[in-house]
Amino acid sequence: MKKISILGSTGSIGTQTLEVIRNHARDFSVTALAAGKNIDLLEEQIREFHPSMAVVWDEENAATLKTRVADLNVKVLSGMEGLMEAAVQKESDLLVTAIVGMIGIRPTIAAIEAGKDIALANKETLVTAGHIIMPLAERHHVRILPVDSEHSAIFQCLNGEHGNRPDKILLTASGGPFRGKDRAFLETVTVEDALRHPNWSMGRKITIDSASMVNKGLEVMEAKWLFQVEVDDVEVVVQPQSVIHSMVQFRDGAVMAQLGTPDMKLPIQYALYYPERHDLEGKRLDFGSLSCLYFEKPDMEVFRGLALAYRAGREGGSVPTVLNAANEYAVAGFLEHKIAFLDIYEIIEECMEAHKKIECPSVSDILDTEQWTYEYIESRWKLEYSH
Ligand code: NDP
Repeated sequence: MKKISILGSTGSIGTQTLEVIRNHARDFSVTALAAGKNIDLLEEQIREFHPSMAVVWDEENAATLKTRVADLNVKVLSGMEGLMEAAVQKESDLLVTAIVGMIGIRPTIAAIEAGKDIALANKETLVTAGHIIMPLAERHHVRILPVDSEHSAIFQCLNGEHGNRPDKILLTASGGPFRGKDRAFLETVTVEDALRHPNWSMGRKITIDSASMVNKGLEVMEAKWLFQVEVDDVEVVVQPQSVIHSMVQFRDGAVMAQLGTPDMKLPIQYALYYPERHDLEGKRLDFGSLSCLYFEKPDMEVFRGLALAYRAGREGGSVPTVLNAANEYAVAGFLEHKIAFLDIYEIIEECMEAHKKIECPSVSDILDTEQWTYEYIESRWKLEYSH
């Protein structure tokens, strides 16, 4: 039986991970669960899955939860210390990083150092600290198993290739709710418009990132680290039906693709069971009714976030951290109706211009850069929100 810890168990990826575990209760058990503030759901999860440890970000909520689950044998912790303990918990075999944002960096590093395999959804960790995470994982013989559907697809396409290197990675994108729209249209879009993703149901932050295509840019950088390629070897292909989850082209021109209906439980289950495949209920592709697949080039002039991410990926060092932090801050501001959709791009670009790059940032440089970015945005745009 594989023992699993989940950081971010109350979110979109976290709850779907628990659904996979629930459906395969003979193969998996849960040893630790961590959440931000949703203690109602966390309590339900504790009662169903019986982890020996639970973490809530703030102390007050942790104290409330502790009282509520006093009848159970579960240790309740809080804050970064709690996340770190959950990440390195002795009995766990694999850590699912389903937390949102750069807060995932330190627990991920701690888990790798403790020899835990990582099922990685928290892409911000690789975008900002890929140069630390990947060599560390290699040194500790730890597997980084992608949960992002595109990266899982690429990972599956590379399976059995016996070290044949990809010539090019074809990273597919749905194009989001604003595909085909122009800049004038984007000027007036609302939070509700941006949250209406055509194919995937996800957390709020990543849904906005999908609408702005910054998510695809983060994925380009994630692919660079996971598959050890240059960002310019990753080509974004818009495939609006989200049937092809990504492709790999080899030096002889052969292209391998992974197809399926859009369901995050597939990449999650693949990461939990890797390298085995097991039953997963759900819709299957019906090629008769599908009849055609179509493709487009991304419009990087309108969706400037993607172009900015390529630039950040090429510049490297601390620049991807600035892009990621500026985006996190700007998206939170947009979700709170404080800025317009297109301001997200302005804020990211201005922060990237103002930042003095650190060539090979340490974890503390990355966290300082994140802080610098927030302070720069606060001073420049007078934005305030509780991040
Ligand atoms: P959600 O917003 O749905 O969930 C985030 C989770 O993180 C929640 O459980 C939240 O807890 C928890 N969390 C937030 N802050 C803290 C904190 N300070 N301490 C502990 N826990 C915290 O996000 P998603 O599930 O959509 O995304 C998670 C990650 O996976 C992101 O990096 C995203 O980019 C990536 N991803 C997501 C996909 C998807 O389909 N959703 C697809 C591919 C990648 P609470 O709710 O209790 O506050």
